[in-house]
Amino acid sequence: MRKERPRHESQVLRLALAGGLPALAACALLLWRSRIDSRIAIPVVVVLAAVWLGFAFAVRGRVVRSLQTVANLIGGLRESDYSVRGREIGGDDAMGDVVWEINQLTQILQEQRFGAIESAALLKAVMTKIEIAILAFDDEERVRLANRAGERLLGAPIDRLLGRTASELGIADWLTGLSAKTIQGPIAGRTGRWAVRRSVFREKGRPQQLVVVADLKLALREEERQAWQRIIRVLGHELNNSLAPIRSIAGSLQTLIARDERPDDWLDDVQRGLSVIGSRSAGLSRFIDAYAKLTRLPPPRRTPVSIEDVIARAARIEDRTAVRVAPGPPATVSVDGDQIEQLLINLLRNAADAGANVGIEWTAADEEVVIRVTDDGPGISGTANLFVPFFTTKPGGSGIGLALSRMIADAHGGSLALENRTDGVTGAVAVLTLPRNASG
Ligand code: ADP
Repeated sequence: MRKERPRHESQVLRLALAGGLPALAACALLLWRSRIDSRIAIPVVVVLAAVWLGFAFAVRGRVVRSLQTVANLIGGLRESDYSVRGREIGGDDAMGDVVWEINQLTQILQEQRFGAIESAALLKAVMTKIEIAILAFDDEERVRLANRAGERLLGAPIDRLLGRTASELGIADWLTGLSAKTIQGPIAGRTGRWAVRRSVFREKGRPQQLVVVADLKLALREEERQAWQRIIRVLGHELNNSLAPIRSIAGSLQTLIARDERPDDWLDDVQRGLSVIGSRSAGLSRFIDAYAKLTRLPPPRRTPVSIEDVIARAARIEDRTAVRVAPGPPATVSVDGDQIEQLLINLLRNAADAGANVGIEWTAADEEVVIRVTDDGPGISGTANLFVPFFTTKPGGSGIGLALSRMIADAHGGSLALENRTDGVTGAVAVLTLPRNASG
């Protein structure tokens, strides 16, 4: 570019000179032909030539100055100096238009830069304050970024973290395997449980990994408190439901027996009352049994289990409706077959309670197997209480099916969710995810 500029300038000069040359030549010729005294003719030609050269250089200078102004303005932009503005000339002026356009562009870039600076400052403030560790690794698994929580988690200041590899820091497993997992064990000497989430982003075309690590202890404590509150609410409700009628019937029977004159059928009343008390006590004891079942779930005894077989076994048990088993890929998972079968029986029973068309299907990826149980019932209206132990909307329901099923899924390092179908059919779908390896 720089080499071409003199050529452009000399071209302008040459054109300007060429524009005046015919007139000068004509003047010189006329003077020579009209035989004017050379003492007059020569100075006239010299003056004309000087004027001609002067204007030609002025044209060149004008063009060069305009281009230099534009080059300076654009150079300022290239250097990210947005404070420089060209002097605007109003009216119908080509150079004025160029300067105006460049000024507008400068203004826009300046605003965008302020916006970017503000967003970056906000992001930095959020990253510093947030209690969740955020780390970025480059394609060689070297730390490129860590926020305060990340420094605390790894027990070292940022300058001692930058450039070190994940394996040097003892966290290489964060960058492999499932993109969302729970890690237990000491990190930089601290024991605890952490939720690790990983995602990939690209910078200058090269893959980088962003890792977000949350300390589960705090979240779990809050969850635990809420779980206790819910259990106590349900227990209180259930105990009151049984104890209130027992107390009231016992009171009535006492009054009846204390009366001097009892009606003829008083023995029938006593018998009815005692049988209500008996059935309420039996209900209470069933409830306590169910509670015990929940709290005494043994740890899974894992063996390799064919998903196809366990689904077929569970589907055969549901006798109220024919369960449609969609064919899926053969897959073996390391799980407690009895527990997973019990879990599927619970889901299929709920689906059969809800609708007539019950289906079960599965997919298998390298890392996990996903089983879906669908029905065409009314679907679910709220998800907040479904997995709360003893929550039931069914007369005679126990409310432990889903709670127990989720505990089994969790014990296997998997997850269980119940949601409305999104395939255009009204109904619910229970989604069970089980990891293929034996973690959790
Ligand atoms: P139970 O079946 O004894 O009520 P669960 O824990 O299995 O206990 O289920 C809890 C509640 O969740 C049920 O009472 C019902 O309201 C809701 N539920 C479970 N599965 C479904 C489903 N497939 N469709 C609609 N609601 C469901």
